[in-house]
Amino acid sequence: MTVADEIQGLLRPGLRGLSPYGAPQLDVAVRLNTNENSYSVPDEVVRAVATALTSEIADLNRYPDRDAVKLRADLAAYLGHGIDAEWVYAANGSNEVQQQLLQAFGGPDRVVLGFGPAYSMHPLLAVGTATGWVDAGRGDDFGLTAAHAVDAVREHRPALTMLCSPNNPTGTALDLDVVRAVLAATEGLVVVDEAYAEFARPGTPSALSLLAEHPRLVVTRTMSKAFAFAGARVGYLVAHPAVIDAVQLVRLPYHLSALTQAAARAALAHTPVLLATVEAIKQQRDRIVATLRERGLRVADSDANFVLFETGGDQQAVWRALLERGVLVRDVGLKGWLRVTAGTPAETDAFLTAMEQQ
Ligand code: PMP
Repeated sequence: MTVADEIQGLLRPGLRGLSPYGAPQLDVAVRLNTNENSYSVPDEVVRAVATALTSEIADLNRYPDRDAVKLRADLAAYLGHGIDAEWVYAANGSNEVQQQLLQAFGGPDRVVLGFGPAYSMHPLLAVGTATGWVDAGRGDDFGLTAAHAVDAVREHRPALTMLCSPNNPTGTALDLDVVRAVLAATEGLVVVDEAYAEFARPGTPSALSLLAEHPRLVVTRTMSKAFAFAGARVGYLVAHPAVIDAVQLVRLPYHLSALTQAAARAALAHTPVLLATVEAIKQQRDRIVATLRERGLRVADSDANFVLFETGGDQQAVWRALLERGVLVRDVGLKGWLRVTAGTPAETDAFLTAMEQQ
C-alpha cells in the first residue's frame, strides 16, 4: 500500500476520492479563467496600502482586533443602504465567510440547497462541513424561476439555500422576486452570493435592499473582483447581528490578520479609484456578448465580469485551441459552453481573435 492510499483510508469517508478546488494557474499571456480583475492595483492605492501596512508592523507582536471593528465600519459605509457596522462581518474571502455559515448553520443531518450550474465551491463547502448538498438545477436557459426554487425548498427543507446573483458561471443576476419567494417558503437561512454585484447592469437591485425586513437573509460580498483585491483575501457578509453572533461561534480566534485589515481599509479609502475599472470591464463584457452573438453563438446575459458562451462545438477542443493561441478561459463542465473573464481591451481583442481562428 502506498502512503497516499494509507492516508486516503484515514480520511473521513465523505472526502475520499475527491479532488480539491483548482482552476489551472497556467503561465499564459492572456488569463481569463478565474474572473479576477485584470487591472493591477493603481499606484496611488499601492502607496496607501504600503503606508498602512508599514504602520502595523511594529505591533505584529500583538493579535489583531478580533472583531475588525474599523474595517466593518468602513465596509458598512461603502455599502450604504443604511447598513450599520454591526450588520457586517469580514473574513478571508467570501469563500471563508460561506464556509463559516455552513459550519454554523449546516452540518450532519442538514441540507444546503443550490441551483446549478452555480458557484462550484458551494457543493465543496457542503462536503467540507459534512452538510448534505442538493442541487435542484435550473431551466434549459439557465434561468431560475420562483416556482422552481420554491418547489425545491418545499421538497428538501434546507437549513440553508444558496442563491448566486449575478450567478457564476452564467453571469445573470437573479430577480429579487425569487429571493423573496425563497425567503417566504423556507424556515432556513437564505444566502445570496453577490460576489459580482458591482458589475450588474443598470436597474439590477441588490438583495441588500431586502435585509431590513428579512432576518434570515444573508448577503455575501467580496473585495476580490470589483476592488481588484483578490490577493488580499477580503470577503464579508451582511446580515442581522444575530447571524453574525452565530458565525462567531465557529470562526478561528483572530482569523483576519492585522495586515489584511489594514490593507482592506486603505483600499476602501480609495474606493472611487479602484471601482473606476468596473465601467471599463463592463464595456469589454458587453463587447464580448455582442460580438459572439453577431457571430451566431448563444451567449448568456451577463451582469458580471465574465461571459458564458456556447462554443458551437466540443468545448474541450475549443478550450485547447484557445490555449494554443495563448488565451486561457474556463471549462466549467457545461457541455458545449465555456466561460471567459472580461478584462482589458487588449485581452478582449486576443480572445475574440483566437475565437475567430479556432
Ligand atoms: N462567490 C462567487 C460566485 C465567486 O465566483 C467567487 C470567486 N470565484 C467567490 C464567491 C469567492 O471569492 P473570494 O473568496 O475571493 O471572496
